[in-house]
Amino acid sequence: MALTLLRGMRTPVLFRMNAGLFFTTLHRPSLARFTTRAESAQATEPKATPQSIQMAIKEAAEQKMQGFEAVIGIETHVQLSTVTKAFCSCPYNYGSQPNSTICPTCMGHPGMLPVLNEKVVECAVKLGLALNCEISMTSKFDRKQYFYPDLPKGYQISQFDIPIAKKGYIDLDLPMEFGGGHRKFGITRVHMEEDAGKLLHSDSGSYSQVDLNRAGVPLLEIVSEPDMRTGIEAAEYGAELQRIVRYLGVSNGNMQEGSLRCDVNVSVRPVGQSEFGTKILLHKEGQADQIVQETRLWDESSQKTFTMRKKEGLADYRYFPEPDLPEVVLNNDYIDEIHKSMPELPEAKRRRYENMGLSMQDVLFLANDDNVARFFDSTLEHGSDAKLAANWIMGDIAAYLKNEKLTIDEIKLSPLELSELIASIKNGTISGKIGKEASPYFVLILVELIANGGTVKAVIEEKDLVQV
Ligand SMILES: [Zn+2]
Repeated sequence: MALTLLRGMRTPVLFRMNAGLFFTTLHRPSLARFTTRAESAQATEPKATPQSIQMAIKEAAEQKMQGFEAVIGIETHVQLSTVTKAFCSCPYNYGSQPNSTICPTCMGHPGMLPVLNEKVVECAVKLGLALNCEISMTSKFDRKQYFYPDLPKGYQISQFDIPIAKKGYIDLDLPMEFGGGHRKFGITRVHMEEDAGKLLHSDSGSYSQVDLNRAGVPLLEIVSEPDMRTGIEAAEYGAELQRIVRYLGVSNGNMQEGSLRCDVNVSVRPVGQSEFGTKILLHKEGQADQIVQETRLWDESSQKTFTMRKKEGLADYRYFPEPDLPEVVLNNDYIDEIHKSMPELPEAKRRRYENMGLSMQDVLFLANDDNVARFFDSTLEHGSDAKLAANWIMGDIAAYLKNEKLTIDEIKLSPLELSELIASIKNGTISGKIGKEASPYFVLILVELIANGGTVKAVIEEKDLVQV
């Protein structure tokens, strides 16, 4: 239908940029000639990949070498895994046939009115609380106007001056291979908005088509304070945010699908200088030049950044309150209810594991993935010793998962049987052997349980491993 819309405009070329990068034409080529969605995502959303974090890592390293330090802030867009879109009842499924999940509202037809999906508010409050934010009891939506072929309304419904959550922070632990250490980074705000559609560029580069499936899909934008100084800190911030949204179940957090996209803002200053935003670039000759604020594109093949566009000022968007939606008014009971429904979050889990006496390496491994943590916790509930359970999960089980490209949810071994196995070893049930001498037997049983399920008892009997 979007194609029909464009055809209806009777404009041979709707949009053109220099260097032949970007065209929209009227003729409809065969679908086979389209780039894949993944390629298209790369082409249209250079900022939306972990590459932007790689860029920060590289830039930070280079600047440090030259006596400068990087000041890094990150804007992250998280796509919510609600059943329907933010303001209409269309579903969104990644990878669907282009323009198959659209309606007059998300296509921006005149006269259509948005209706807010309450799940979006729930997810926003959840994430706001998880990021230790103040929740705005009254917030509102605003229109952010700009033109782009994948934005049929000509504006995006977003939140401008009153975000639903603000003034929070995120706690994280840096990986041991980077020296470890605890970090706390400020969160400026979390706000709700809708996504735009997507452009599908032809292989020849001579035309593009519009897929509006993603138009109107709910997003949360999380803006950090410029608190990060190294690329590792930036990367870990992104990783922690991904863990949090996955723990909360508000998003699948998959970067390859564009469910989590990071814009990394990097500015540099001489090491030791306290003020931010130095917009002066010193050349080698000692000349000073004013430098401009801009969005740069990371090019993976050349490992360099290029100017993409000059950054728009807020005034360019002509924000004004969205007249078609009422204010979002919350009450304390609603927030308390959401608070109570929230699971234990990564930071709390790490501290709990740390208090069990586990090493930070173990702690980071176990708390990294919600499913692994749940498996570990459940094994402990069946009476296992924490260190032994951690060793099995991080050792032979993790190796098996890696080899077979499985997740811990996909194996047939249950936490109960792992705890039984650990107990059997402890009690010397297996062959009366202990320590290194017996370990091949344990691994044999473990692999049997992972692959085929069953109980430790049955496998021991079947394999004739009982102590005599
Ligand atoms: Zn719709």
